[in-house]
Amino acid sequence: MKNITILGSTGVVGNNALSVIQSYPDLFTVVALVANKNVTMLLKQCLAFSPIWVAMNDKKSAYLLQRELQDRQSKTHVLFGATAVSKLASLPQIDHVVSAIVGMAGLLPTLSAIRSGKTILLANKESLITCGSLFMKELTSSKAKIIPIDTEHNAIFQLLPLKIQENLGVSALKTHGIKNIILTGSGGPFYKFSIPDLSHVTPNQACIHPNWSMGKKISVDSATMMNKGLEYAEARLLFNASHSEMTILIHPESIVHSMVQYCDGSVLAQLSIPDIKIAILYALSWPKRIHSKSDFLSFFKQKTLSFFEPDLIKFPCLKLAIDAFSEGQAAMTVLNAANEIAVQSFLDFKISFDKIFIVNIETLTSSCFSDPQCIEDILEIDRISRVLAMKKVSSLSF
Ligand code: NDP
Repeated sequence: MKNITILGSTGVVGNNALSVIQSYPDLFTVVALVANKNVTMLLKQCLAFSPIWVAMNDKKSAYLLQRELQDRQSKTHVLFGATAVSKLASLPQIDHVVSAIVGMAGLLPTLSAIRSGKTILLANKESLITCGSLFMKELTSSKAKIIPIDTEHNAIFQLLPLKIQENLGVSALKTHGIKNIILTGSGGPFYKFSIPDLSHVTPNQACIHPNWSMGKKISVDSATMMNKGLEYAEARLLFNASHSEMTILIHPESIVHSMVQYCDGSVLAQLSIPDIKIAILYALSWPKRIHSKSDFLSFFKQKTLSFFEPDLIKFPCLKLAIDAFSEGQAAMTVLNAANEIAVQSFLDFKISFDKIFIVNIETLTSSCFSDPQCIEDILEIDRISRVLAMKKVSSLSF
């Protein structure tokens, strides 16, 4: 029996993880759940899974939840605040931590799980890309393991030799006969839109993805293709890949979740229907495989698989993220902070869709930080960049 904490249980990834866990009651059990302020959903999850602990980042929401649970004679203990969230990621009885808080808020709890040697199912890419080599150093100096559940990275992980899987971020791809990683992406909901049309799209349109159901932030990132840029950075760090070992391909059907090209000319691909539960089940059962309750891919129904080069002119956020990664860690941390502010401002109808890129690039060009040496440096760069990005948003608001 594997004991699990889910960070961000009320989100899309969190709910999918719970759905997988519920299907295998003899294999997996929920010990702790974490959310921000969604009391209604966390209450429902507590009643269904009876975790020993829950934590809410928001104090008022935690009190409301506690009252509701007491009325129902529940034995679940309720905590609140950022320290409690990190504590539930490091409980001694926990084996696996699902890291599915959205944005930079996931950083400290994910680090807490790493420092206490857990196996981490990583969805929260922001925590990895904002810290880069500092994050990977924490990982290699602990007993912790990362198994990515971002579908593309989960696919790449599945296609790599066991030696790399067991030592993520350390082995050179070349020494294992790997030529390059082919990161695929659907292109998002606006893949076929013209550049002028992109200035009029609404948050609702941006949040409806053709193949995936996701939280609002990652949906907008997918629409700007910033998500693919963040995934590029995630892949470079997790798999120790150089820029020339990375190729990005648009694959609108979202069936091939990524590929690995070996030096003998063979290309290995991981295919499945677009369902993150498949990646979550693989990560929970790794290194074994167990029978999935998700639908299986049918090649009689799915007859077309197409691939295109990404359009970096129409989707400049993708190129911006690739360039920021090459520039260095501080640039990547600034970009992530600016993007979180820009995306939220778009969702709040403060700026138009095309201004997300403007906020991102102007925040980047107006900041100048030296290379961060520790997590505190990262947090400070993040804090200052958010202030800068908010100023940009104010100057661009409708
Ligand atoms: P959602 O917006 O659906 O969920 C976010 C979760 O984070 C919620 O449970 C939310 O709680 C919680 N949360 C937010 N802030 C805090 C905080 N300060 N402390 C504790 N909990 C907090 O996002 P997704 O599930 O879509 O995505 C989560 C992460 O996974 C993102 O980093 C995303 O990039 C990544 N990812 C998502 C995929 C997907 O298919 N959705 C695929 C691959 C990666 P509350 O509900 O109370 O606000």
